[in-house]
Amino acid sequence: MKQYFKLDEWKIIEEGFNAEHQQIAESVFSLGNGRMGQRANFEEAYSGETLQGNYVAGVYYPDKTRVGWWKNGYPEYFAKVLNAANWIGIDIIIDGEQLDLAKCEVASFRRELNMKEGYLKRNFRAKTVNGKEVEVEAIRFCSMADDETGAIKYTLTPINFNGPITITPYIDGDIKNKDANYDEKFWDEVKKQANPNGGYVQLKTKKTGFEVATGMLFTISQEGKVRPVEKEKYVAAKVDLLAEQSKPITIIKYAANLSSQNYKAENLVEQLNQTLDRVSKKGFDTMLAEQAAAWAAKWKHNDIIIEGDVAAQQAIRFNIFQLNQTYTGEDDRLNIGPKGFTGEKYGGSTYWDTEAYCVPFYLATADPKVTRNLLLYRYKQLGKAIENAQLLGFKDGAALYPMVTMDGTECHNEWEITFEEIHRNGAIAYAIYNYVRYTADEAYLEDYGLEVLIAIARFWSQRVNWSEAKQQYVMLGVTGPNEYENNINNNWYTNTLAVWCMQYTLDVIVKVKAADSAKYNALISKISFNEGVEFARFTHIIQNMYYPYDEQQQVFLQQDGYLDKEQILVKDIPIGERPLNQKWSWDRILRSCYIKQADVLQGIYFFEDRYDIDTIRRNFDFYEPRTVHESSLSPCVHAILAAKLGDEARAYEFYLRTSRLDIDDYNNDTEDGCHITSMAGTWMAVVEGFGGMRVKDGKLSFNPFLPDKWQSFSFNVGFRGALLNVKISKAGVDIKNLSDTQITVLVHGEEREVKYSG
Ligand code: BGC
Repeated sequence: MKQYFKLDEWKIIEEGFNAEHQQIAESVFSLGNGRMGQRANFEEAYSGETLQGNYVAGVYYPDKTRVGWWKNGYPEYFAKVLNAANWIGIDIIIDGEQLDLAKCEVASFRRELNMKEGYLKRNFRAKTVNGKEVEVEAIRFCSMADDETGAIKYTLTPINFNGPITITPYIDGDIKNKDANYDEKFWDEVKKQANPNGGYVQLKTKKTGFEVATGMLFTISQEGKVRPVEKEKYVAAKVDLLAEQSKPITIIKYAANLSSQNYKAENLVEQLNQTLDRVSKKGFDTMLAEQAAAWAAKWKHNDIIIEGDVAAQQAIRFNIFQLNQTYTGEDDRLNIGPKGFTGEKYGGSTYWDTEAYCVPFYLATADPKVTRNLLLYRYKQLGKAIENAQLLGFKDGAALYPMVTMDGTECHNEWEITFEEIHRNGAIAYAIYNYVRYTADEAYLEDYGLEVLIAIARFWSQRVNWSEAKQQYVMLGVTGPNEYENNINNNWYTNTLAVWCMQYTLDVIVKVKAADSAKYNALISKISFNEGVEFARFTHIIQNMYYPYDEQQQVFLQQDGYLDKEQILVKDIPIGERPLNQKWSWDRILRSCYIKQADVLQGIYFFEDRYDIDTIRRNFDFYEPRTVHESSLSPCVHAILAAKLGDEARAYEFYLRTSRLDIDDYNNDTEDGCHITSMAGTWMAVVEGFGGMRVKDGKLSFNPFLPDKWQSFSFNVGFRGALLNVKISKAGVDIKNLSDTQITVLVHGEEREVKYSG
């Protein structure tokens, strides 16, 4: 599907009803506010193919692991974000026949996602089998200003008839996850009540015991006979009325989702009623105006304006919009699932994507506390990361953070990833480094960061072993970011990152000790850190680590033996054989030289200051032609490095691959949900790639270029109290300070003072 949606700078627009695109559209038009979210399912009944999805952040179910062959060390459960009660439903029965676009004749259909103001609007005209024609306009949003609530305004106009209509606003908690290992329902009912003007359902998750009360209050512009209805986990109010031709009937439905994470379970209903009361008193229009204002405040910090390329403009705003819908940073118990609130895939859990890809986005576009909360999420899970390492045989406070998690417990169960894709531990340390260098919040290291770093460094120091043959340390049996290789020895990226973690930990120890020795002493006694012994062990590993390298081509080797593989480049694979993960056996993939996503290049991206430009170029030229980019996280790193190498055309080409990935369903998988974490990579491709933004010695530095197709592009970034607007055009680089904090930046290496410019 290429360019199915219409181009627009601020909107995603679908024109015409296409049942075969329904699930893709449901993903793309998803709504969220950090606290809850949903796919763009229809309010009225729909019997066609659909993936129903309503999600409440942080509410999950530990679905018992299902694997063919159990391995010791596997987690017992896989946490899954739950499909939660459907609060959008409004059934419409016209003269005994259900309004259902899968069965009606749809004369016109238009759906638009207004990203500027944060709402979804749908208009259609349809004729029932009985020949009754109606026009509908539905507007809905998940409120950013009041993040436990949402609202819908649904207006139905009879076109060619007078007659009976039954309108049934409802809450349905009798729902399932598509992804359920044992086909069970994950919710039990606690209580419910249907009223003439609303109702609620309170549900409790099996095993985890989260309780969520979902309620509604509604108004209908026309009087009717009301019958409250209760069924299992379901409440509704059936309103029978006599519709008149051309007279619009407007239903306003206010909804709220309150979770026992934030209230005592026994108080949920009382709080829910207060919340519904409050928002209904505000009214739909005020709520919508607040929504626009909340989004305006977001866009002020993070809009990117691209002149001369509507497709690119729409795409970058879509990426930024979805990231903001997914995570707002208000709550350090929440994180960013790779699909956000747009689908069930990846279980809504936390991956290394957060630290490696999302952190740079939130650092530059949100208050520092947002990233700090992402770091604190991991800090709070340190105990579980230590338990996780113990389960695998590590000791003395070594921590291995999970590859996939909700509450700190590992919930992935493929040995090659769970046990071997340990580089994720390094990304968590790298995010701490990134946060501190960006914000200068050194106190974070004293209060939280160092404790995490020592635990991670301890893991690495136990995970390596001394090779008698090499007289160096090696790291065996790992999977790097390139998941198309498993159980390899000496993955260059992992070895590099592990050593960097140990060195950074040592540097931070010195720093924290000098800043506050009492705090430092309290910490090392709490975690029994034997400074003399452990310092020496880390140092010995740092000095004696082995890194695979090929002298002849002068490139870092992805792993031992990589060059023994048959070296046929990606361009020479017959086109019909790609994507490899759908066309080739796993065995063939593992034996091949093909790289799923940036691996050596991910390391070069992280540590680019260590390498001269020729080294970067040699490695880029070697690895890029072997990379199939079958992870959405891959092209952005390549875009940034291509930009660094001055290869503007290729930087742009890689950027295009990430930016419209979901809008244009590039990988044929958008129906499962959008690739939220890779959207942060798209932002990185613009700001770090085309904008060449880096932090150098405590200053923001820009080395921008303007893609040929664009007249200009500009982005807003916050840095240490200042808010900057950076505009790159043919005329040069213009930087405005939108705050009153004066700041000095580097542009192409030259210092530039940026004062408040009014
Ligand atoms: C990638 C991982 C990533 C995961 C979730 C996988 O396809 O290879 O690096 O963490 O998707 O986005």
